[in-house]
Amino acid sequence: MNKDQFIQKLYPTLPVSVIAPMERLNTPGSRYWIANDGLWVETYRPWLYLLQPVSVANKGTTPFGVIPAPVLELPKLPRAVLTEFVERAIDACPNEIGCWIFLDTEGRHRLVWHDQVGTPDLLHYTRPTPNPGESLVWDIHSHGKEPAYFSSIDDADDFGDTKISMVIGSLNEAEYTLAARLTSREITITLNS
Ligand SMILES: [Zn+2]
Repeated sequence: MNKDQFIQKLYPTLPVSVIAPMERLNTPGSRYWIANDGLWVETYRPWLYLLQPVSVANKGTTPFGVIPAPVLELPKLPRAVLTEFVERAIDACPNEIGCWIFLDTEGRHRLVWHDQVGTPDLLHYTRPTPNPGESLVWDIHSHGKEPAYFSSIDDADDFGDTKISMVIGSLNEAEYTLAARLTSREITITLNS
């Protein structure tokens, strides 16, 4: 298999039919769709389904079928898991702290405090390894006294992962701040606005 064949097998690219309904991707991976208005991406993971526009025009530009609406299906982070993180983050403040949360195929959570060294500006950590059948779903870190936002360092950290990233900040104040987004290869979707 040459490099072109490898990339095209990994990311099949299909025209949307004008007569038949689309069949959902149901194995882990991604594929691109050429729809009437341009390029869409479809991604499936055991915990995620998305069908989103990547590069589209206002009007139909191709002879192919229409994708009627974007789809985004995500799991919900249990409140108790978020509370556990926030308590540790307040204790660590002003230093940053982080955790990863894996989901198995039964929908069970596993929170991992990875090996880490946090300062008020940075978090160095070793990426934990999932157990068989687990997926990384949430990557949460704190910003100490700083507000929650995605820094350029966070952008670089998240690149290449398909996951939900969360930042919790303003931990020295009465109410913390939170920023959340889904990242995947093609798109980043803000989740808390
Ligand atoms: Zn950050």
